[in-house]
Amino acid sequence: MQPFEPQPSDQAGRQADPYAPQGGWVPAQSTPAASYGQQYTSGSYPSAPPAPYGSYPGAPVPPVAPPQRQPRGLSPFGMPARHSWEIPMLVVVVVLTVLAYLIALLLLATGNFDQYVLAFAAAPLLLWFGRGINYAGQRVNGVKMSPTQFPEGYQMVVDAAARFGMAKVPDAYVVLGNGQINAFASGHGFRRYVVVYSDLFEIGGAAREPDALAFIIGHEVGHIAAGHTSYWRQLGMFLVPFLPIIGNSLIRAQEYTADNHGFCNRHTGASAAMGTLAAGKYMNRLVGFDEMADRAAVEKGFFVWMVNALSSHPVLTWRMWALRDRSRHGKLFLRPAPPAGAAVPAGGYASSYGQVPAGPPKSVV
Ligand SMILES: [Zn+2]
Repeated sequence: MQPFEPQPSDQAGRQADPYAPQGGWVPAQSTPAASYGQQYTSGSYPSAPPAPYGSYPGAPVPPVAPPQRQPRGLSPFGMPARHSWEIPMLVVVVVLTVLAYLIALLLLATGNFDQYVLAFAAAPLLLWFGRGINYAGQRVNGVKMSPTQFPEGYQMVVDAAARFGMAKVPDAYVVLGNGQINAFASGHGFRRYVVVYSDLFEIGGAAREPDALAFIIGHEVGHIAAGHTSYWRQLGMFLVPFLPIIGNSLIRAQEYTADNHGFCNRHTGASAAMGTLAAGKYMNRLVGFDEMADRAAVEKGFFVWMVNALSSHPVLTWRMWALRDRSRHGKLFLRPAPPAGAAVPAGGYASSYGQVPAGPPKSVV
């Protein structure tokens, strides 16, 4: 557990929260969310607003406007932490990418070039062009979330931006998923946006898992808040596709960072979000979050290591473990280990996840 990590167990228990400002938390209804962008009014909201926190007995009620200047941590109640390996890995990748640019320019100047040299020499233009095309594709084909189109999702984006102290609310689009479960964040110029595939958005429907959607939207908005979608950053990471292990490790660290944002945005959606990634929008409720997370420490061997090392996202079991054990950052290279000397208990490993009340038990039939 992080020393600064508050563990409020319920609304009343937040008196002991070290983050608590003088006089307590700002009540949700008086949060100046409107300053973060266009805020719908009750008159323009066509359906019931998303279920608020505390919708079941014992549910924690995180502050809507967290203290922005507190140290970042893994708690769901403070500001979300950046993965501890992200910046060191970024420095390594940027240095290697700059070297690649210099070599490309040298080869170009001496007349020794092929398509790779040309691509690196033209990287600033290619990246700018690709981002422009990608953004335009959403603008002309995507369903833009608004107070009247996908209002729940729109409000989740507004809330996440406010949660992370962002000056601007990113645009958000729903695009046809055709069965695929995916979402991403990107930008062009000064604009930032998130895209949610319609199939993934379906988990936000009234009868499904709005908390999971809020977690995922928090994850994507977190990519933007953490600077992952910046043009200059992506230019500095242009070499990533050519750096199989190192490049992917940086991307995985970024994913853990984004998961921390998703967790801080709506920690009660973490297990359902992972269940959806594991088994899809209909079968997500059949996934035993703890049962699957436990396997992170059990599945071992060279090929397990390879699958993770070559993956752009941490493998699901490790990702689940990291979302469950909030006392440390997610594992990048070596599988998470149970506490020293501990045998695997019958009901799975003891975890800090239980210290943060999760959602009510889900039926598996
Ligand atoms: Zn991500």
